[in-house]
Amino acid sequence: MTADDLKPLIRAIPDFPKPGILFRDVTTLIGHGAGFAAATRLLADRARAVGADVIAGIEARGFIFGAAVAARLELPFVPVRKPGKLPVPVLAIDYALEYGTDTLEVDPDAIAEGQKVVVIDDLIATGGTALAAVELLRRAGGVVTEALFVIDLPDLGGADRLRAAGLTVEALMDFE
Ligand code: IMP
Repeated sequence: MTADDLKPLIRAIPDFPKPGILFRDVTTLIGHGAGFAAATRLLADRARAVGADVIAGIEARGFIFGAAVAARLELPFVPVRKPGKLPVPVLAIDYALEYGTDTLEVDPDAIAEGQKVVVIDDLIATGGTALAAVELLRRAGGVVTEALFVIDLPDLGGADRLRAAGLTVEALMDFE
């Protein structure tokens, strides 16, 4: 399967999580064996091509794709977690949401200084989540130059924000 074959496997849910939002749901992609395998392979091909030492995934759906990619490449997987989940002292970063703020945390010992980290999430919208994860992984010692997504919503400008911050951004598909 190619990336074009994967697009019909994404389900669109109107008015979730709130009215006016069209939620792009990857549950139907991961529920399709060949589709999930193809998505993982395509992301892993890119991570391998850029010479990743470590794969980082953003909680929660970034864990699904990121962990599968890491296992496929036999690379370490680092979870970028929501607050209060890691059982060790953490590095943390706060970032702005549309309303309020959120926090991401990482184990400060998860990455060796200078390791090349590829960040994976299911979807990039405004880019706020991914930018915070990149900053956090850099503080942990990682060299982060590449971010991979299953879905980009280009109208929301997130990929452009990441590129302006010096990252290479790739997604398997776009939705307007
Ligand atoms: P951003 O920070 O605005 O780029 O939002 C991206 C984050 O929100 C990612 O962690 C996504 O998992 C989640 N997200 C935002 N919109 C959607 C959607 O339509 N489907 C699935 N996840 C979404």
